[in-house]
Amino acid sequence: MNIIVLDGYTLNPGDLSWGELEKMGNLTIYDYTPFDKITERAKDADVIFTNKTPLTKMDLSQFPKLKYIGVLATGYNVVDIEAAKKDNITVTNIPTYGTMSVAQMTFALLLEMTQHVQRHSDSVHNGEWSSCRDFCYWKYPLIGLEGKTIGIIGFGRIGQSVADVAETFGMNVIAYDAYKSDQPQREKFEWAELDELLSQSDVVSLHCPLFPETKGIINKETLKKMKKSAFLINTSRGPLIVEEDLAEALNRDVIAGAGLDVLSEEPPKLDNLLFTAKNCLITPHISWATKEARSRLMDIAVDNLKKFLDGNPLNVVSK
Ligand code: NAD
Repeated sequence: MNIIVLDGYTLNPGDLSWGELEKMGNLTIYDYTPFDKITERAKDADVIFTNKTPLTKMDLSQFPKLKYIGVLATGYNVVDIEAAKKDNITVTNIPTYGTMSVAQMTFALLLEMTQHVQRHSDSVHNGEWSSCRDFCYWKYPLIGLEGKTIGIIGFGRIGQSVADVAETFGMNVIAYDAYKSDQPQREKFEWAELDELLSQSDVVSLHCPLFPETKGIINKETLKKMKKSAFLINTSRGPLIVEEDLAEALNRDVIAGAGLDVLSEEPPKLDNLLFTAKNCLITPHISWATKEARSRLMDIAVDNLKKFLDGNPLNVVSK
């Protein structure tokens, strides 16, 4: 069995082991595969693993042996699921490896906006504390989260974990989801329609998948519905936001700030408008990438393939 990993470097830059997959077949690992090399590299594959290498614009029937695509991520928009189904290819994802890792990043971005840890530390290193008259100083507004409202768009695994942390900070939680789940254990919690959520939230955090109906869910019109003092956080997928609309909203103080771990194009072009927008933190898609989460991801990827080969596939997204 030929197993091809199209883009293994981001999952395993060298601190994890491919050993378990190696035991299962003839394993070839590419650190990175440019689009025009996919066909050549995958032509004899029985199994393809991809993290972000897009197989959406591929005619999958050109890979005659291909039976299985393992997406090395939660979001599986890199594969055309309908085309895979048509060609009888099972597609799996890794649903839960990084739930807390993404929740942690959501708060890393939020806390940077409320406390400005890095900017204050930079100022101390630049000597500003040493030359200060008082025992303390702050250069940017410090904002408490207790009693504030976080609006979570997409209340699945990650959204709910973010809610758990938010509750610990004493925040009220409201959520919008296309499918509402029972949340009997939550006290300061309410479901809301999207417009209500946008107008009531001090923090809006995106945790829905990228689907045609969620693409551009944050745009000029929806940004106008948010509070001027609100922060927007996106650790889900870049195209959920119309970036030029967000850049304009930040520059015109329509909202107070944004913390983004994902952009519509990754890697982004140097002239991305958000790079120069006001109060915009951007990290390079690292929410998933704690070593602990990557290690779990590797284990689940191996287990998914084992279960598929045993005839009891798990985490199938191509049903
Ligand atoms: P999940 O499937 O558990 O939750 C997604 C939620 O979104 C579900 O409750 C679903 O009902 C809801 N939803 C679906 N369509 C919707 C719509 N049209 N409007 C509102 N809500 C809708 O997934 P999860 O594990 O919580 O992951 C959420 C997303 O986080 C993933 O799709 C992925 O894009 C992203 N993610 C990002 C990183 C990263 O490193 N930045 C890592 C992991 C996951």
